[in-house]
Amino acid sequence: MTLRGWVRTARHSKGVSFLEVSDGSCFAGLQVVAAPELENFETELRHLQTGCAVSVVGEVVDSPGKGQRFELQAQRIDVVGTVAEDYPLQKKRHSFEFLRTLAHLRPRTNTLGAVFRIRNAASAAVHEFFQERDFLLLHTPIITSSDAEGAGQMFRVSTLDAGDPPRTESRSVDFGQDFFGRETFLTVSGQLEAEIAALALTNVYTFGPTFRAENSNTSRHLAEFWMIEPEMAFCELDGNVDLAEAFLKHVISRVLERCPDDMAFFNERIDKTVLETLQHIVDTPFERISYTDAVGILERSGESFEFPVKWGVDLQSEHERYLTEKHIGKPIVVTDYPATIKAFYMYLNDDEKTVRAMDVLVPKVGEIVGGSQREHRLDVLERRMTDQDLDQAAYWWYLDLRRYGSVPHSGFGLGFERIVQFMTGMANIRDVIPFPRVPGSAEF
Ligand code: ATP
Ligand code: MN
Repeated sequence: MTLRGWVRTARHSKGVSFLEVSDGSCFAGLQVVAAPELENFETELRHLQTGCAVSVVGEVVDSPGKGQRFELQAQRIDVVGTVAEDYPLQKKRHSFEFLRTLAHLRPRTNTLGAVFRIRNAASAAVHEFFQERDFLLLHTPIITSSDAEGAGQMFRVSTLDAGDPPRTESRSVDFGQDFFGRETFLTVSGQLEAEIAALALTNVYTFGPTFRAENSNTSRHLAEFWMIEPEMAFCELDGNVDLAEAFLKHVISRVLERCPDDMAFFNERIDKTVLETLQHIVDTPFERISYTDAVGILERSGESFEFPVKWGVDLQSEHERYLTEKHIGKPIVVTDYPATIKAFYMYLNDDEKTVRAMDVLVPKVGEIVGGSQREHRLDVLERRMTDQDLDQAAYWWYLDLRRYGSVPHSGFGLGFERIVQFMTGMANIRDVIPFPRVPGSAEF
């Protein structure tokens, strides 16, 4: 066989050189045995080191050595690319912080290689899940003029001269002269556009980049991340919860199936409970409770939370984790939140106090999915927008959908990196995306 890849480690002894060569296709490299008979043994092969690129032709044989079943007995090795002296990735373990400064080289490390293979398997599983159910993939815009409920602070998209922009008579920047003739931003969510499509094509999903200009320097937030957003017509909250549960189980079980070696590595080196947690999620029906019951449980818990709980407050991460980890010990779906803490587009229940929202909470991470049944009644939606001081004119097309053949519909959003983080047990979300964008950093 022919193997082309990069040397992970090279051990040179007197009579023979052992190279571990990886092409990134799986967790393990392949041991290559280079015997002194090879014509370039003395001139080149004995000088191979971590990072060199090689092309090996040889025969796969049973390996007498420990640690691998097979090895490649080389008949010919071409050195395709040597490495300069200062190659920064050596055999020793590097910190993830240090590796972030080397985003161009870190895919060659065990951990990041495994992360990227898991991202790949999980992405395929996302499409598989929806395609099997006849959901249509929808490409929603990245540049947008709507702020999708004010889900997050937005990045401006502009071609105006930042140093000397045109001004209106009142001296404010005249975005009328900007590229699109109006203010535009990078999208924070494709939901509103997905609703447009669902109300024609029934079941759709998006899987695209989203951007949040929040200055949140946490281990769970990125300024650019990938979001999966299904939207279903003729579907109420229960159907939405069912879909979210089936979806999470599908993605997790496919990753467990397709990446056993990578997952074994994460379980051994990153988080010793990760396999058990994931298997538990696949095997257990999710628990469903209302926000009102959840608050009752928290109030009676006897825990002293940093943020006190009472009906009407938003659940903090500590509350979410108590519910899913201590109270139930499995994933839990909390539904029917107070209208005042949720977005205007969520369906108002008959009690006029709660909306048909749902959050899926999982151990260790807390919220992993957020979604709702959407308000499809024009009068209620208009009233909710007025209550929240939203400009109805700006949402004219969104309101139109409620005028022309409106139907109950529902959907949710899931941050792709959050689920990758959850599946790998990686402590920082910056290490589960190839090129993290966070406040103060956008190199590469
Ligand atoms: P959080 O409270 O964690 O900031 P959110 O309530 O702002 O999240 P939503 O607006 O509901 O999040 O976004 C939908 C999903 O997108 C979330 O459930 C989460 O999985 C993911 N998500 C949100 N913000 C980020 C971010 N900055 N980086 C990565 N993923 C994110
Ligand atoms: Mn947020």
